Amino acid sequence: MNDHQGDGQAQIQASQRLLEGYPGAAMLVSASGEISATNENAAGVVSLLSSGDLPDVQGLITQASETAAIATGSLAVPTEQGEILLEFTVVPNDAASDPAGTFLVLARDLTMERNLRSALVESRQRYKDLVEVSSDFYWETDTEGRFVFVSPRGGLGYLADELINDAGEDYVTDPESYTPLPFVSERPLEDIEMWFRSKQGETVCMLVSCVPLFHEQQGSERQWSGTRGVCRDVTDERRSEAALARARHREQLLSYIVSSVRDELDPQNMLNAAVTATARALGVAGCRIYRQSDPGQFLVAADYGNIEKLEDLDTAVAELEDLSEVAQLELEHWRVLAVSTHYRQTVNGVICIWKSRNDEDWTNDQLILVSDIANQLGIASEQVTNHERIVALSRTDSMTGLLNRRAFFEEELPRRVARLERSRQTAALFYVDMDNFKLVNDVHGHQAGDDAIMFLRDMLMDFTRPGDVIARLGGDEFAMWLDGIRPDVAEMRVANLIEVSQSMREFSGSEDRPLGISVGVAVFDPDWEEPLDELLARADAAMYSIKKAGKGGFHMAPQPAQKTTESG
Ligand code: GH3
Ligand code: MG
Repeated sequence: MNDHQGDGQAQIQASQRLLEGYPGAAMLVSASGEISATNENAAGVVSLLSSGDLPDVQGLITQASETAAIATGSLAVPTEQGEILLEFTVVPNDAASDPAGTFLVLARDLTMERNLRSALVESRQRYKDLVEVSSDFYWETDTEGRFVFVSPRGGLGYLADELINDAGEDYVTDPESYTPLPFVSERPLEDIEMWFRSKQGETVCMLVSCVPLFHEQQGSERQWSGTRGVCRDVTDERRSEAALARARHREQLLSYIVSSVRDELDPQNMLNAAVTATARALGVAGCRIYRQSDPGQFLVAADYGNIEKLEDLDTAVAELEDLSEVAQLELEHWRVLAVSTHYRQTVNGVICIWKSRNDEDWTNDQLILVSDIANQLGIASEQVTNHERIVALSRTDSMTGLLNRRAFFEEELPRRVARLERSRQTAALFYVDMDNFKLVNDVHGHQAGDDAIMFLRDMLMDFTRPGDVIARLGGDEFAMWLDGIRPDVAEMRVANLIEVSQSMREFSGSEDRPLGISVGVAVFDPDWEEPLDELLARADAAMYSIKKAGKGGFHMAPQPAQKTTESG
């Protein structure tokens, strides 16, 4: 081993120590690319070099060799884990001491550094973008609570520039109720619900969160320098929540009304239940339901509450032009809402609610609710009409439209007798039976018989007054009840009726057996305290006696026998 060799050996050993101290990959490479020594971290680079994936390293070595100076370069190396960035430094050895020309090649992985830097840039851009596109309102205040920064879109309808230097407090509806006010808060706050006034004068609800900012001061305590925060507009959410709550409340009221109506069997009670429940649910002074009998004619079907000074309502309702909309009326000291009820697209009534004119105006909810109720009531109203129709049918004789026997005896007479017993008035019951009617049928046919029945009906209707009642008891037999008539007047009237009945002769089946009527009359007097069936029997007997006596006239039934009051 000569000196020269010894020198070279020492140098390699020195280089080896150098390699080991290097935190990245380090190796000694000859000008031709042969690796003579590496450190522990070089394994990866060595394998890349030997597989020919780093062709440019050889270029750097050549450059260092030619210039006898350090050559550096960054190389992007694609790997299975993605691209890595390696920075190479090639240091030529002193040519005098190292004639073989070894180069110290150092490689540093810059991938992480590059990624970190770009992540930082990217994250700044991300926050900038988010703040710019956000409808939220970002701000920063100084220690006086004045805006020193406002996100580019501004807030509360103001441009960012318009807000700068203004105190946040000035935009808060009720600043005293927030302690601390976020704009001057020295501690973090989260989602404080606050009300603001917008530039357009609207009330805006915001959720406000903030963090305080501090100055770091060397040696002394850190000092609060302002606050940074964000306001998120939740006005629409709050509004729709409130609207939802109101809708739910209306729903509850409506279902209370509907169920109280549904619990009633009798149609009229349905409407009574409806007005009661409606007035109570809406907390109004009163409620009324009208039913439309004939087109344009509204009759009160049910009433609830205070109806004082409401006389003009009937006319007002009849004069309403557009019945589909809720109408708001003012009558005397009432504020009235009126809206029509429907059945199958046809108006069948009107519902009205009213309250004092001193009360506040109707709320939107009340308007909605009353039309919802009207929608439900149309069916109930229709049921009342149907019920009345059926009742009417069961009470009338289909051919003449007069009351039938059952309705006359079982409903009409007992009611009238009871009323006259209270008013102490007399009345008269007329039994009317056609004479020789069968012959009309036999000679002229059944249709002519029917015509004769209708003729007699018209005659009796002309003869009576509105308060009287006529019934067809069956076949050619009729009955009349003349309310409040005096006995002597009853006799004059029946004589007159017989006279008028001469006009029936034209229907006669033969000259010698002419068509006419026989009438039996029984007078009712409450003083006699006569049972109804006895009164009927007297009228029947009077009829029988005139038929026997030769027809074409009348008989007045004698007064009932005086009751003997039992004593002792
Ligand atoms: P009288 O003078 O004794 O009262 O005898 P009349 O011929 O009037 O006959 P009666 O009262 O005994 O009988 C009534 C007849 O009326 C019997 C029936 O054939 C007939 N009749 C009953 N209902 C109708 C009807 O709706 N139309 C027609 N055309 N005839 C009827
Ligand atoms: Mg007859």
